[in-house]
Amino acid sequence: MILRRISEGIRKQDWFVVTVEIITVVVGIFIGLQVDDWNQTRKDMADEKNFLGRIHEELLTSLDVRGFIRDQRLEDWEILPHLLFDIFEDPERESLTERECLAIQRSSILTANLAEMPSFSALLATGRMSIIRDEALKTALIRFEQHRQTLQNFTRTQGIDLGSKYPNLLKLTPLREDNGNIEPKVMCNLNSLRADQGFLNDFHINVDIFESYITSGLNPIVKSIEPLHLLLDKNLNLNH
Ligand SMILES: [Zn+2]
Repeated sequence: MILRRISEGIRKQDWFVVTVEIITVVVGIFIGLQVDDWNQTRKDMADEKNFLGRIHEELLTSLDVRGFIRDQRLEDWEILPHLLFDIFEDPERESLTERECLAIQRSSILTANLAEMPSFSALLATGRMSIIRDEALKTALIRFEQHRQTLQNFTRTQGIDLGSKYPNLLKLTPLREDNGNIEPKVMCNLNSLRADQGFLNDFHINVDIFESYITSGLNPIVKSIEPLHLLLDKNLNLNH
């Protein structure tokens, strides 16, 4: 219809009609593009809210499920470095507590990884990270995922299972804790540990590996949890 009017205008050399029709076409295309753009923006904003809500839930679930294992590793790390030097160098130390024997026995355990957040992975995989408008949140999410993968890689590192390798030095019996979890009760004798150079070497190796795991794996992600959670809450207008 418009094309016919334009060609008719050209034929009659009615430049006013031609100009008006061309302007109508251009304005129509412009409005169409704007409406498309507006619809896409509205859809992106709805998707953003939806994805952030799900990521927030997944983060809380992941923290909740693995929290006690993470705390165990951090508590073990408060004990192990001092214990290493006490065993090797402190003549005044004559015995070890059950808790210290447990830390020795667990010094090969490098778990406490955090579960993947499927909604965040889906955003990354589909190239839709741009729907998150808060640059600080976007950066925090990407960093968190990098820390999570680094931590995950540490779980493939093998420490030395001292309880299995030195059964005469570390004696385990089962113990049910107040929260229902089964943990070993570990007995060990400091003089016997000191007399076995093989054990001392292996324990040293475990503490070295554990230190890398804590400083490069677990601590960076633990420190990034709260800032990420605060940013998610801010974007979702949550206060809890
Ligand atoms: Zn929250």
